[in-house]
Amino acid sequence: MLNALTKFFGSKSDREVKRLSHIVAQINQHFEAYESLSDAQLRAKTDEFRSRLNDGETLDEILPEAFAAVKSACKRMLGDTWDAAGLKVTWDMVPYDVQLIGGIVLHQGRIAEMATGEGKTLVATLPLYLNALEGKGAHLITVNDYLARRDSQWMGKIFEFLGLSVGCILAHMPNDERREAYRADITYGTNNEFGFDYLRDNMAIRPEDVVQRGHHYAIVDEVDSVLIDEARTPLIISGPVSRSTHKFGELKGHVDKLVKKQNELVNHLVAEAEKLLAEETADSEYKAGINILTAYRGAPKNKRLLKLLQEPGTKRLMGRIENDYLRDKRMPEIDEELYFAIDERHHTIDLMEKGREELARSMRADAEVFILPDMAEELSRIEGMDISAERKLEMRQRIEDVFLDRSERNHNITQLLRAHMLYERDIEYVVEDNARVVIVDEFTGRLQYGRRYSDGLHQAIEAKENVQIERETQTIATITLQNYFRLYDKLAGMTGTAETEEQEFYDIYKLDVVVIPTHKPVIRQDHDDVIYKTKKEKYEAVLNEIEGCYHKRQPVLVGTTNVEVSETISRLLQRRKIPHEVLNAKHHQREAEIVARAGQPGSITIATNMAGRGTDIKLGKGVVELGGLRIIGTERHEARRIDRQLRGRSGRQGDPGESRFYLSLEDDLMRLFGSERIAGIMDRLGVQEGEVITHPMITRSIGKAQKRVEAQNFAIRKHLLEYDDVMNRQREVIYDRRRRVLFGEEIEDLVLEMMDEWIESLFDRTTEEGTSIESWNLEDLQRALASVIRVFLDLNLEELPSLDRDELLEKVKQMARESFERRKGEVDPELLPNFLQGTILGYIDEEWKDHLYEMDRLKEGVGLRAYGQRDPLVEFKREGYSLFEEMLDRINEKSLKSIFQSRILTLTKPKESIPAEQMAAVHRQAAGMAYAYAQAPQQERQESQAPAQAQGQAPAKPQPIRKGKAPGRNDPCPCGSGKKYKYCHGR
Ligand code: ADP
Ligand code: MG
Repeated sequence: MLNALTKFFGSKSDREVKRLSHIVAQINQHFEAYESLSDAQLRAKTDEFRSRLNDGETLDEILPEAFAAVKSACKRMLGDTWDAAGLKVTWDMVPYDVQLIGGIVLHQGRIAEMATGEGKTLVATLPLYLNALEGKGAHLITVNDYLARRDSQWMGKIFEFLGLSVGCILAHMPNDERREAYRADITYGTNNEFGFDYLRDNMAIRPEDVVQRGHHYAIVDEVDSVLIDEARTPLIISGPVSRSTHKFGELKGHVDKLVKKQNELVNHLVAEAEKLLAEETADSEYKAGINILTAYRGAPKNKRLLKLLQEPGTKRLMGRIENDYLRDKRMPEIDEELYFAIDERHHTIDLMEKGREELARSMRADAEVFILPDMAEELSRIEGMDISAERKLEMRQRIEDVFLDRSERNHNITQLLRAHMLYERDIEYVVEDNARVVIVDEFTGRLQYGRRYSDGLHQAIEAKENVQIERETQTIATITLQNYFRLYDKLAGMTGTAETEEQEFYDIYKLDVVVIPTHKPVIRQDHDDVIYKTKKEKYEAVLNEIEGCYHKRQPVLVGTTNVEVSETISRLLQRRKIPHEVLNAKHHQREAEIVARAGQPGSITIATNMAGRGTDIKLGKGVVELGGLRIIGTERHEARRIDRQLRGRSGRQGDPGESRFYLSLEDDLMRLFGSERIAGIMDRLGVQEGEVITHPMITRSIGKAQKRVEAQNFAIRKHLLEYDDVMNRQREVIYDRRRRVLFGEEIEDLVLEMMDEWIESLFDRTTEEGTSIESWNLEDLQRALASVIRVFLDLNLEELPSLDRDELLEKVKQMARESFERRKGEVDPELLPNFLQGTILGYIDEEWKDHLYEMDRLKEGVGLRAYGQRDPLVEFKREGYSLFEEMLDRINEKSLKSIFQSRILTLTKPKESIPAEQMAAVHRQAAGMAYAYAQAPQQERQESQAPAQAQGQAPAKPQPIRKGKAPGRNDPCPCGSGKKYKYCHGR
């Protein structure tokens, strides 16, 4: 019914396509007219278009002629041959009408859905040419380096024919070549390269190091894969932590001993408890409960304890006693029995008095070294001393050092204890080759190479396992692909499969999808799924089908959701002695060559989703008669899009073909999301054990399950994006400021702005609006003004009562300007701009880097607050904002102080940036067809599943330990970060 209706009135895309056909007619008219032009005259069109644009004509007006010029160039090149990424190509393409329509859609900044093999590579050249005429660059984004190179060389000839230049950005390309490529009219490259260049540009310390020249127009090829699959993980540039002061090596032996002691103690407690329980009196039972609770606080993963807790009633007994103690606030009594106390739910560990003494004995030190000085008290004591200011400063520094030193040590000890007590080898992590600690994903059990626990925990585990302790790294720049692509003035995309994700493209990128009809009708047969009860039966059937095709010489492409399945099928095929190829999206060029042959008679290719994407599968001789390329899906993906992608590999340009998915009730998708319903349907249909079933109802039902999962994944991505938006706005502000400094023509104006900003925030801190003068902190105000910008504010006591805050603020701003003028007088004007630039840039980079680190912590931290019924996102926004404000304030203050107070003003070289070889650019690739949901990194899941935590699942994120009294807001943070408490864990 619905189908009939849409056919009758036409779908949205049909109407769209119809609307664009009249432009196609115009293009073709111009094309005819151009036939009579010489090659040189055709080329001259480019200059003509450019000057007409200059004279105010719009791209839309020029489009029909520009597209006709491209089409004409294509026609003139027919039969030419050249080399593209090692492949000899013979030009054989003149855009079809549907391709012209696709080109218009791309020009309009939308997504063109065009099936595989429809020639999207060619389609893109039309809008690229048109939009490059504006001279601001047009970018084409491909999914891998190989395709960037191939397509730029393959299509490059068209642009050159018409007098435009083409560049290609590849990994490991030096900076000057990159800049050259960006200067070209049209630039090809992968999303990672474009994104990382953007980040690196914003770390440049000299204007000439910047390679990109703006973000004008981009077409993203395989747009679903880039903007949906890849976009979930951010691009990160990381470098070594500037201050690495861990003492794991030195502390390890002592902590090992302590752990041993605690384990002995816990074993003893459990043994006691067992004895007491055997007595079976109420009194002894209660005592046993206390022992059990103590043991649990001491070693929650102790084997003997866990066993005892399995006994009926013991868990309840422990809970009862815990409640009693919590209610009476007597938990410390329990903990005091221990060397250290563990709160398993919150993942925190407290070193107790007994433990401190034990450690001190073992280290031959004073137990006091584990106790943090009370900074507020110490500082006010020093302040009150009758000694010189210099001496005070010295004492302050000394006490600060003591604090830092001790908090660092405590933090290391706690992390080592955590590593021992809460992280089990072969469960939470594995040790590979006796050399590497690799995290195990708790849901999928997959090894998470390259990921590390944060906050020193990973090193603590390395210390525990006696492997080399690696240097900690930290993020120095990061952006998600989503936000990178939002930088473009105009964005467009193309892919074979966008329709199912239409909503997401629109919601997140404001891109709408137009489905372009195929050049020739698709005659591929897509069969209903067949479903088996077990995987074993399913693979058996798959193998039989492959073998059948192999004997007929019909080519087969087997699609898998991940590498493991590919390998399983490959092993089974080897057993049957059937030759085949396996592709895992690792060696793009080689795999492209293999996939290109996948349509040859008798060829059998097993590939994960991404492998060989972008390479056309042409059918070999006689294959049409055999029914074309046969597609076998070994599992349904959680997104319908990926399944369509696989099917689309066959039946290109009107070729025959067939596709079928083989499923089992044991498949992930079925287990996770639909097996009950499907099992229900199977029962209703009366399917017996061991029987195969295929039924449209089941295919539909699976489709529904997929839709649910898609919606869920979309929600997760959207949620992540909301977090990232906070960062994105901050990044925009900082990068904008940075650029102004880097290219600083008006750097002095910026200094004035910074002064105003800083003064305003100083006023906010010291003279709260709407309060009386008596409560103002004028002393602080005066001191800060003097010490930072050399403004000496002389306040006349008589005038005070009539003082108006705003007047005072204005007066101070005026004085600041004068002070800056005086300062300029002291400085060689030649050197001034450079000096200002170097100073401000240095502080921006330093503070931004620290800020990124803090934002990471904040993000981890807010997840935990879901306990307090507060919305973590709201918290994140609020606190992220105030952290950011504080950072801007620090940048201002530090820069100004340095500008006003540096005694010798030499030509300062900008601060050394981190050497490139120490930086790592990482983008965790989406794992092709693997299950995104189950694979979401733990943290992301926590964010999206905050409510689940409240039901008692402890989030496994490190939490700071607080000892004794909370430090003052301006004290160094006890976590050992070296930052003030208010900027760190005291938020
Ligand atoms: P897609 O990216 O849409 O999957 P490609 O750009 O890889 O497709 O093109 C696939 C193949 O289709 C090309 O190698 C070419 O042989 C063929 N093709 C595309 N457009 C034309 C055309 N206008 N005329 C002839 N062949 C074409
Ligand atoms: Mg393609």
